[in-house]
Amino acid sequence: MSFSSLGLSQPILDSLKDLGYDTPTPIQAEAIPLAVKGKSLIAAAQTGSGKTATFVLPILEKLASGETLRKKRARALILTPTRELAIQVFKSIEAYGKNLNLKAMAVYGGVDYAPQKQQLIEGVDIVVATPGRLRDLYTQRAIHFDEVELLVLDEADKMLDMGFIEDINKIVDTLPEHKQTLLFSATLSRQVRELAKETAVNAVQLSVTQKSEGKPNIEQWLVTVDKDKKSALLSHLIKQSDWPQALIFIETKHGAAKLVAQLENREIQAECIHSGRTQAIRESILADFKSGKIKYLISTGISARGIDIDELPLVINYDLPFPADEYVHRIGRTGRAGAKGEALSLVSKDDFKNLCMIESRINQLIERRVIEGFEPRKLVPVSVLNFVPKNKPAKKSTVNKPVTEGRQSKNTPKRNSEKHTDKGSRKAKTETLKDDKLPLNPWGRS
Ligand code: AMP
Repeated sequence: MSFSSLGLSQPILDSLKDLGYDTPTPIQAEAIPLAVKGKSLIAAAQTGSGKTATFVLPILEKLASGETLRKKRARALILTPTRELAIQVFKSIEAYGKNLNLKAMAVYGGVDYAPQKQQLIEGVDIVVATPGRLRDLYTQRAIHFDEVELLVLDEADKMLDMGFIEDINKIVDTLPEHKQTLLFSATLSRQVRELAKETAVNAVQLSVTQKSEGKPNIEQWLVTVDKDKKSALLSHLIKQSDWPQALIFIETKHGAAKLVAQLENREIQAECIHSGRTQAIRESILADFKSGKIKYLISTGISARGIDIDELPLVINYDLPFPADEYVHRIGRTGRAGAKGEALSLVSKDDFKNLCMIESRINQLIERRVIEGFEPRKLVPVSVLNFVPKNKPAKKSTVNKPVTEGRQSKNTPKRNSEKHTDKGSRKAKTETLKDDKLPLNPWGRS
């Protein structure tokens, strides 16, 4: 299939050709023709699936033939959870729409209102915005929504996780009733479906298998290690390996800054981005990472959300994320558009609950390795794959029990054996875990 069969006009096809896009990704092939025809859509699609073009291209197609700009009005609104993602989407609009006479802008918090207001006065076709700042601008009457024809909710699950539901509802309530809505979400959870019901009336629901979930291009492995040895292990692995670049995820901004210092003490140059750094610094660091000037970028999960780097070879989870979907998002940053990727997680016993949830989510036990000199004192039990997090403590039954060696559940697929790796080399020998004495419920649920 080619892009020319999707209902897109020549100026857009020309820009795709310039970008080297030959074939639509599965979600693009399925969604673009419907969206171009004006259908509202709800799509389960991850970062890395080509979802940005999936909503940007139909928007460009529809608006290209429309009327000229009016002051303080926009014809398409794209809501994203983070400013980094807003900027990323804005850049995609510029790239895909370079042969069209449409104006777009990115609107996000943490920067002055005045330039954004000025740009709105001059008129724009497409506004890409984080929900909080957009709502503020609307309240200040800097933007009116009466001419909005298209609404995109990008990474809807993430926006809900980040507590934007009230802002989104307020914005949606003021939009014209007859509009086309395109909702994209990594997962179609109950909350996302509820949001979809309110915002995307009569929408067609699509779900296309994602590369990042299909895993053929992403080699996932984990190293078990004690928490206090993680930074030493990371330094060791960096020095032993010839990784060209890595994006390293960590949970807290304090942790990110500390890890940069620890790596630098071991003569490894790294940078970090997190919400405590100014927008200008974050953007400049991202640009340096994209250009290859920075080899190791440490980021909190939220800050990394909008990072889009072609062929990022390696993602490292210094901490395991919660919820498990976040893991899928993170590893989706590598192995993009057919390239081979690698996802490494450093897992200590404290991460066990998150590991259970992640392995249940991906329905796979991730290959384990132990690095010589970093053998954990506190062993990480092996997960069962039907782990379901509950608000209430789970009963002392079979459901949440970690399986230890020799006590594998009947339902558990054959697991990878734990491997012992010599100084980071990838040739591993098998080691048996002696974790029979571990408590069945190591995170304290009873
Ligand atoms: P996204 O899922 O929108 O974040 O896109 C992931 C990456 O795939 C981006 O770097 C896009 O530029 C790239 N991409 C999107 N669609 C295509 C395509 N049809 N062919 C090649 N690359 C693509």
